[in-house]
Amino acid sequence: MISIRIKNLSPYKTETTQAKVRLSSNELPLRLPEEAKQKIAQEVAKIPINKYPDPEAEELKDVLSEHFGVKRENLVLGNGSDELIYYLSIAIGEFDSGVFYPIPSFPMYQISARMLGRKRIEVPLNQDMDIDLEASLRAIKDSSPILAFLSYPNNPTGACFSREKIERIREEGLFTVIDEAYFHFSKKSFLKDALSREDTVVLRTLSKIGMAGLRVGILIAKEDVAYEINKMRLPFNITYPSQVIAKLMLTEFYPLIEECVSTVIKERDRLFQVLSQMEGVKPYPSDANFILFRSSVPADRLHVELLRRGVLVRNVSYMAGLEGCLRVSVGLPEENDAFLEALEDSLKNFT
Ligand code: PMP
Repeated sequence: MISIRIKNLSPYKTETTQAKVRLSSNELPLRLPEEAKQKIAQEVAKIPINKYPDPEAEELKDVLSEHFGVKRENLVLGNGSDELIYYLSIAIGEFDSGVFYPIPSFPMYQISARMLGRKRIEVPLNQDMDIDLEASLRAIKDSSPILAFLSYPNNPTGACFSREKIERIREEGLFTVIDEAYFHFSKKSFLKDALSREDTVVLRTLSKIGMAGLRVGILIAKEDVAYEINKMRLPFNITYPSQVIAKLMLTEFYPLIEECVSTVIKERDRLFQVLSQMEGVKPYPSDANFILFRSSVPADRLHVELLRRGVLVRNVSYMAGLEGCLRVSVGLPEENDAFLEALEDSLKNFT
């Protein structure tokens, strides 16, 4: 009998349910104008798809390095930042050393660690959804993890952890990955640290700024660290169409993205205000493009009621500490209105 070591693991769960209003995957509600779509189609038509793409995606890296204000040598590209999380989990420390992350957080940290049979040091967040510093330092002293993943802002809770706490944890000598997938909505960053320290790297992604379908994740690190991680990369991991379209989007069409991001930030703040005033609902503050909220009714049933009314949100109530919670991605004003209406109507069902 062949032994398959990962047989008792479960895959990353994605939401495939169809709904009129999908607010479940933290995508940007970017609607490209017809002329932009045509320009993209023209550029894609020029791609020689019988050829391999540029293995180092140099032209895309040039655009990205200008975008982030870093050098090309500071970048490693992944097929989404998911792939980079996996690479880091393989590259940093021996497999019998531990990986630290607060919970609840982005599931890929746990999945990658389990996949590789690495020890997991999972420390629950405090009541304010911030890092529990004392418990974290205790766990780090007990288990000596080598690698830390910190989602900044944290998915699915929404806010950035306190910077001082992150800095204190890093003092314990951990290689620290600051996952800034939602940077464009928080504007808070550890980029300077990543460019000046050997023990800190930053992850960014194009997924949350309107390009989730392209699968482009970006690791930013000091040149020598980036050089080492780049050795992990599977050949040609950024497809030809992704390289071409991402370049166009980050240059010619970037103003459209910026406009959509600022709409989402305004809408996030509006959504938070309205949810705060709704009876039986407690939203958590967010620096991202989604809001976590707890309701006084069973989350599984509320999720179904919303879906019946055509609105899909993410049910995160299965995660430790998030009983009764759902997560809604911020959409366009009319999508958010549809969600608020469906929520109010659903809640009436429970009285
Ligand atoms: N990190 C965090 C915190 C995320 O929420 C996500 C996506 N939901 C990712 C990484 C993965 O992003 P990508 O699409 O680039 O793989």
